[in-house]
Amino acid sequence: MQASSQRTIVHVDMDAFYASVEQLDHPEYRGLPLIVGGLGARGVVSTASYEARRFGVHSAMPTIQARRLCPRGIYVQPRMSRYRQVSRQVFAIFSRYTPMVEGLSLDEAFLEVSASLRLFGGARAIAEDIRKAIREETGLSAAVGVAPNKFLAKLSSDLAKPGGIKEVESDHIHRLLDPLPVRRLWGVGKKTGAVLQRAGILTIGQLRQLPLVDAQRILGNQAAHFQALSRGEDDREVMAEAQSRSISHEETFAENIGDPEQLLAIMQGQVESVARQLREQQLTARCVVLKLRDGRFQTATRSKTLPEPTNETRLLYAQAKALFEQWWHREGGKPLRLLGAGVSQIAEIERFQGEVQSSHLDSTLDDIHKKFGEHGVQLGRSLLKNRQ
Ligand SMILES: [Mg+2]
Repeated sequence: MQASSQRTIVHVDMDAFYASVEQLDHPEYRGLPLIVGGLGARGVVSTASYEARRFGVHSAMPTIQARRLCPRGIYVQPRMSRYRQVSRQVFAIFSRYTPMVEGLSLDEAFLEVSASLRLFGGARAIAEDIRKAIREETGLSAAVGVAPNKFLAKLSSDLAKPGGIKEVESDHIHRLLDPLPVRRLWGVGKKTGAVLQRAGILTIGQLRQLPLVDAQRILGNQAAHFQALSRGEDDREVMAEAQSRSISHEETFAENIGDPEQLLAIMQGQVESVARQLREQQLTARCVVLKLRDGRFQTATRSKTLPEPTNETRLLYAQAKALFEQWWHREGGKPLRLLGAGVSQIAEIERFQGEVQSSHLDSTLDDIHKKFGEHGVQLGRSLLKNRQ
């Protein structure tokens, strides 16, 4: 915890971003329940304004269900290119405070500000300045979390919503975390949440106090990771923009894996996540990248440029699989300690309607993901994301 407690990380998250941009651009929508999302039969809500949330409408809900809950709401299609434009303004504000900005999506970013504290008069001052600049320059509101690590910073901004600032100090971590439901741990989705609930673990405090062996019985490989989070520990670094202009998922295994079928299944889950992230942000990629680390900590990367940019899972996976099989045969089937799949050479898609034509399978999977979360569609076991 030594290293993490010396860091200061700010997480900024725009309030109801798509809906707020629509209300900004269309004054007639202000103060009314507004739902931005897919309007077709299989459409899903992207963002609901706070007025719409009072009716029980939330993001990831099928639009049909939202219409039943809030029949008099205003329903509009997302305008991605406009959201990206506002997003660029917001990210330009972040970059005044630190070069270490990691965007998680158009409206959300981590800022590593440890080195900027003195210059700007402390973390609280940075948080307040950023929130003020966003309001003045874009007319929108944001919630800001300040904490010694990424997990706590993200949790704090969530607790500060809408529009607030929440700071977590190192000596109050247990008091903050213990009473919260385990689902608030970053990465605990519906499935893991249900597993914990069946074992009688409802709060973060209960998970924290569990002996490791018991946690392992319930959570397997992930026990140590989630227990660290429950203690408020998270050593993941903020990856600055230049690095995060690639999207990837990787997993370190508790035990080396030598079964190629199992590795391919894991990789498929990773490629699915990456492709979905591309589609959600209306991006495409041209280059597929694999990272492979064997039992002796030798790390190899393999990459291949595609003839055309794409965000289709099937095409990206076919390329990743070919790269893996090449490596596997050349290296004589070495068991792996870490496997990661990702993409680079990312570009934005500009379409008139701001809608990309996704393959039918991909859109179906994306809808399922929106409804059921991270664990709904993953064919591979890629639960531990971005762990080094
Ligand atoms: Mg947001």
